[in-house]
Amino acid sequence: MNLKSLPSDTHQRDARYDILFEHVGIGPVTARNRFFQVPHCNGMGYRDPSALAAMRGVKAEGGWGVVCTEMVEIHPSSDITPFIELRLWDDRDIPALARMADAIHEHGSLAGIELAYSGMNGPNLYTREVPMGPAHLPVATFTPEPVQARRMDKKDIKEVRRWHLDAVVRAKRAGFDLIYVYAAHSIGFLSHFLSRRYNDRTDEYGGSIENRIRLLREITEDAKNAVGSTCAVPIRISVDDLQGEAGLFTAEVEDMIGLMSDVPDLWDVTISGWENDSRTSRFAEEGHQEQFIRGIKRLTSKPVVGVGRYTSVDRMVSLIRGGVLDFIGAARPSIADPFMPKKIEEGRIEDIRECIGCNICVSGDFTQSPIRCTQNPTMAEEWRRGWHPERVRPKGSDSAVLVVGAGPAGLEAAHVLGKRGYQVTLAESRRDLGGRVLCESHLPGLAAWIRVRDYRQWQIGRLPNVEVFPDNRLSADDILGMGIPKVVLATGSHWRRDGAGRFHTRGIPIAEGAEVLTPDDLMKGNLPRGKQILVWDDDHYYMGGVLAELLADRGYDTLYVTPACEASTWTRATMEQHFIQARLLRKGVRIKAFSGLHEIYRDSVMMSCVFTGSLETLATDAVVLVTARLPEDSLTLELDMRRSEWAPAGVHDVTTIGDALAPATIAHATYAGRRYGEECDAHELHEGAPEYRREIAELRP
Ligand code: ADP
Ligand code: SF4
Repeated sequence: MNLKSLPSDTHQRDARYDILFEHVGIGPVTARNRFFQVPHCNGMGYRDPSALAAMRGVKAEGGWGVVCTEMVEIHPSSDITPFIELRLWDDRDIPALARMADAIHEHGSLAGIELAYSGMNGPNLYTREVPMGPAHLPVATFTPEPVQARRMDKKDIKEVRRWHLDAVVRAKRAGFDLIYVYAAHSIGFLSHFLSRRYNDRTDEYGGSIENRIRLLREITEDAKNAVGSTCAVPIRISVDDLQGEAGLFTAEVEDMIGLMSDVPDLWDVTISGWENDSRTSRFAEEGHQEQFIRGIKRLTSKPVVGVGRYTSVDRMVSLIRGGVLDFIGAARPSIADPFMPKKIEEGRIEDIRECIGCNICVSGDFTQSPIRCTQNPTMAEEWRRGWHPERVRPKGSDSAVLVVGAGPAGLEAAHVLGKRGYQVTLAESRRDLGGRVLCESHLPGLAAWIRVRDYRQWQIGRLPNVEVFPDNRLSADDILGMGIPKVVLATGSHWRRDGAGRFHTRGIPIAEGAEVLTPDDLMKGNLPRGKQILVWDDDHYYMGGVLAELLADRGYDTLYVTPACEASTWTRATMEQHFIQARLLRKGVRIKAFSGLHEIYRDSVMMSCVFTGSLETLATDAVVLVTARLPEDSLTLELDMRRSEWAPAGVHDVTTIGDALAPATIAHATYAGRRYGEECDAHELHEGAPEYRREIAELRP
């Protein structure tokens, strides 16, 4: 395969896409195009305001006509700890928010802020205030906190209206152009008032649809009266929460929207909860929300924005032309490629770095850590490391670089180094590039993951200074013989066959002749010989569940065993756990939780209860071990032993990155590749050690 033969782009925008660049009025303000970065969480919030401002600024630079914050807490009586979002509790929070609005304005975009009063969704772990909602009910958040919300009385409702209004005025002072009223995702008191699931009131705020929307109407009108001549006031609402008539359903929400049709300046429509709206590509196609939002535009004369993980430009155009949406909303596509609008505008659609729908970004919020993205390793590093999704510094030396391994880490390193002007040689032992994403994208539901390879392969193919040698397994002799000064080893990892992992750190006794397979075996197409298969998942991310699904699809009698409480438990952080367990059960996979695997015999296994240690023997034909991986580090070790040969051979330094150093997620690998590409010459550039910026709270005197 000669990657250099890929055709180059034309850099002319297709006239069909002009409609996406029309100006659109939103109340008193005008967006320069139809690309709308809807509010999205990012794990930085009040803790990292400068990093957050820089991240949003890059979105504006990349052409998103509207760029919004995440949810912003408006009052201490409703904090959403442990999640780290923004705060606008009082005037002292204005400067951090103003910094973000300024960063967005700098690039000519409108700045939006999503004000949120979590109510029953916030256990108030930080402020220790008593949460409030429409009814006396346990707080409804992602963890079952042993805390209840109290029913708001009329005085409470009046006070919350005042707090919201104060926040609206502060948001305007901070410089925001769109000030959202948030009633979506079953997060926040307004969505709870709308829903008969939470609202059992008998006063004028409960019962009929007119009553249930009363508070939403009042709060929106308060905001419009205060700032409506200068700022737009959108409503974000969920059209359906997929609970049927027990919750919010499309026909009822359409009636609500009909009753308030022109009250807000824009309708931002989603489905609820967040896990349904931001489904991964494993569980939903691009635009899966369309069936719920198709009818909204005929209910209002105001513009409508909706999301759908849209990266297909023709689809975006047809949504506008077909009268479904006025704005193409995006959270994840804007994270994976902050420059998507600019690339479309400049006729460079093949340069778009398409979101793969993995929700690693979401895991930042769930782990209270700065957002990370599999496709865009610069996400959240704009300020703290000075990285940019499109721009790199020119090379700092004339050293050529050899990259060994074209998985996510090697591809990203070769791409960044090539862009910086280095002469790069990329060698890959397989015929096709992509490493683990090449293999994993053939597993059930993971096809979109190949985009990690495709984007980088395309970019590298257009760089004359990057030479790619597929089908080339390099030995240490080869590497020394090539005499390239800088060597990057990105040779990946393989799954362990001995059962060592979290549960057994030293492995499991395996009888001779027992059929034991690893994920690598299954990915190579080697299927078990017997019929009854046990999948032991001590990894807890997607692999164990995906392989159980694959085996069930092939007709095996599949038992999935985990020491955890549920299948693929870490995928709570990607909001997939529920979907995974449901799919496995529907496909006939039996799930055995809280169980340890102790010994593997030829036709059975010894299991134990993780609580009592009581043992049981289970018949099985084969075991698939999904435990841990080992770095593919033979080159690293051999080259290290032969250090004395480096200088005579012309090799200056050898660095191991990605899974070859320590196996982790694909996002870790692209990050490692980017980091090498950005920092390998920091000393040659006389910049000293790369700066790692962090925000430090100022102590009060
Ligand atoms: P990472 O996630 O760190 O990028 P991967 O396992 O996805 O790791 O990719 C590693 C790649 O390196 C694989 O495509 C593998 O075929 C390739 N590779 C491993 N050893 C060699 C070698 N000696 N020479 C060339 N390529 C190699
Ligand atoms: Fe898309 Fe995954 Fe990046 Fe999130 S982390 S934006 S889902 S590629």
